[in-house]
Amino acid sequence: MDKQLEKLYQDQIKNEWYSAYFYMSMASYFESENLDGFANWMKKQAAEEYGHGQKMFDFLLDRGVKVVLQAIPQPPADFASALDVFEKTLEHEQKVTALINGIADASDKVNDRPSKVFIQYFVTEQVEEEKNATKIVEMLRKMKPESGAIWQLDHRLGKRE
Ligand code: FE
Repeated sequence: MDKQLEKLYQDQIKNEWYSAYFYMSMASYFESENLDGFANWMKKQAAEEYGHGQKMFDFLLDRGVKVVLQAIPQPPADFASALDVFEKTLEHEQKVTALINGIADASDKVNDRPSKVFIQYFVTEQVEEEKNATKIVEMLRKMKPESGAIWQLDHRLGKRE
């Protein structure tokens, strides 16, 4: 595999597992606020991110590349509100989208066909990630703090499988 492309994948494994860490930190915040449904959503999100890293890990191994794991930075632990958390989630997913697009561009540049096919899943996945975060941000922005609507949303997010 092209060395520059390989480097992007090695970095992205760390980025995906950082995402899992970041969302687990958010789950911890929500639990401390008694928003267990929000915490459930974040735990499921974190598990998905772990899965993304694992897919890339296996892809590199399948291509005969040795994966060298990198240090995962400490995620933020303090959040102001549910809205603050989801604004940070959306912002984070937009950054991830740029990274994934970078891998897609690098795959095109060196015409690495398996990588071009492999990365499509993630390109599509990012559309979903940004849509989901945007929806929740918009719902939270519309909520009046005293309305109790947050508990309804908590109940709904608690149902995420
Ligand atoms: Fe991801």
